Amino acid sequence: MRVAVVGGGAVGLTAAHDLATRGCEVTVFERGGYDPESTPGDGSSARAAGVLYDAYAEDIDAEIGGRALERFREFSGEDGFEFRECPYVIAVRDGNETAADAMAASVDRMRVHGREVSVVDPAELGDRFPLRTDDLLATAVADNAGWTDPAGYVAAMAKKAEREGVGFETGRSVGVHVDPPGVAVDDVVTKRFDAVLVAAGAHTKRVFAEVGISVPVKPYRVQALTGRRAYDGPMVYDATAGVYFRPHPTGVLAGDGTVPIEADPDEWKRDADDWFVDDIRTTLDDRAGYDLDVERAWAGLCVATPDGDPLLGELSEGIFVAAGWQGHGFMRAPATGETIAEQMLGETAGISPFDPTRFSGDEEFEIREGMALE
Ligand SMILES: Cc1cc2nc3c(=O)[nH]c(=O)nc-3n(C[C@H](O)[C@H](O)[C@H](O)COP(=O)(O)OP(=O)(O)OC[C@H]3O[C@@H](n4cnc5c(N)ncnc54)[C@H](O)[C@@H]3O)c2cc1C
Repeated sequence: MRVAVVGGGAVGLTAAHDLATRGCEVTVFERGGYDPESTPGDGSSARAAGVLYDAYAEDIDAEIGGRALERFREFSGEDGFEFRECPYVIAVRDGNETAADAMAASVDRMRVHGREVSVVDPAELGDRFPLRTDDLLATAVADNAGWTDPAGYVAAMAKKAEREGVGFETGRSVGVHVDPPGVAVDDVVTKRFDAVLVAAGAHTKRVFAEVGISVPVKPYRVQALTGRRAYDGPMVYDATAGVYFRPHPTGVLAGDGTVPIEADPDEWKRDADDWFVDDIRTTLDDRAGYDLDVERAWAGLCVATPDGDPLLGELSEGIFVAAGWQGHGFMRAPATGETIAEQMLGETAGISPFDPTRFSGDEEFEIREGMALE
């Protein structure tokens, strides 16, 4: 089977690799540059924070999260990729009873799905980790978690894919052709394929719009930064502040800064906003007594859907889509890439809550922050 993958981010490359290992002839089309030693793609994957966990309340999310962590660990140590074990703490501040109840209810559901997550007393958390906890109402710890450098994963997956015989066509934007499936450059169909996977991240809506298919996804800006001073604690999601942070080779990496407005996938502000840096400075000081000395601050795009679940599956005959991760696309990529590869080969029926045909395409919806406690 000849397969085209449009988009060489974490999801597209994982799918390309898994399709090739299952005997397909695969070509990845990536608009950005491609240098197996350093430059992976041009999209969100290389801008992600690399926070990885399987602490999800929904059964399918927990399963995908668990499978992704399994594969991250399997790949660790190969092709320059490293998975670092590190617990993930969720913290709710005093006065936020609704969020605390929502967190406790989520933890119950995570545990039903076999996730290693527990509600812990804030004082106990303070004994275990170098965090300030006297202003916290409720906390939970997920032990099956870790972090990595997302660009390292993409570079490693590109190398693995190349070794499996995947071809790369890079440096220009391509379009898709439907019926029969194909890939087009400047509206000219260059090649026919048996199946095309569009894993084009923030450009997914645009790629489909060019062939008259409407998919309900919206890109939006989120932000992250790194700091120079050492941080030796766990990964933390301070839910009340809406901020997460984790250890990083230079010191700390922190993020969120969601701007819930639809962004143009080509014209958006790549630098972080000043208010975001100020918020992070305050939260790091409040929660970890950390004095931020910014090394780098940046923005990137996440992609929202009407119901918060991704579009993963067959959209029309031979045309598949994998997009709309609501800020959780990197940590699930090893599993979602694998799932879509299996579905394209007819090995599985796919995941019905993620079926892209559940939408008509013209839904109107607000962008919801991916991490917020319900
Ligand atoms: C600041 C920030 C922090 C984040 N932190 C996390 C995190 O901690 N954990 C997590 O799970 N997720 C995180 N995310 C989200 C994560 O980055 C994305 O969900 C994930 O990387 C999506 O991967 P992808 O392969 O679907 O898309 P992308 O990585 O965006 O890949 C899509 C690729 O398609 C290419 N492309 C687009 N259009 C075309 C075209 N027409 N022709 C050819 N190529 C095309 C692009 O150049 C791009 O390389 C974060 C995102 C940001 C911005």
